[in-house]
Amino acid sequence: MKNLYIDFDGVILDTITPVYNLAKKLNLDVKKQSKEIGLLYSKIDWESLIEESEELSNSINSIKDLKASGKFNISILTHINSLKEAKAKIEFINSLFDDLTIIPVPKSCSKTMMTQTKDAILVDDFGGNLREWEASGGIGVKFTKEPEKCEFKNVTSLEDLLELF
Ligand SMILES: [Mg+2]
Repeated sequence: MKNLYIDFDGVILDTITPVYNLAKKLNLDVKKQSKEIGLLYSKIDWESLIEESEELSNSINSIKDLKASGKFNISILTHINSLKEAKAKIEFINSLFDDLTIIPVPKSCSKTMMTQTKDAILVDDFGGNLREWEASGGIGVKFTKEPEKCEFKNVTSLEDLLELF
């Protein structure tokens, strides 16, 4: 079995669009990663945000299929800005799956610091995370909405992992 780590934001749920909409309303520039944005992230009501967020590419059923295949030892590896965010994500995942490991990662830490990376797969929508992951011996897979030519393997559905590995 291969160790498989799956990102949450931008892979399982599109939590990014509602956050950007909120930032726009408050006249904040999300591209700048300013202090205000950090503050905004830490103040968001994550339970409502998760409710408002769209599931991406049938990800939840795909994770069930990946588990059923017996090919992968799956964990969710997600950056968090606050403990409230961690709690909301843990509750959401626990409401859908019986037995799935969730690793919340403080925003200022690399995902590579939280677990063993050697030969493990990380599916993430952010190239920076994948670059760090590969630099520490892992296999990076970029999740995008549309197919993309990039330095990593690319999937538009978690289901694609069944063919890739
Ligand atoms: Mg992400």
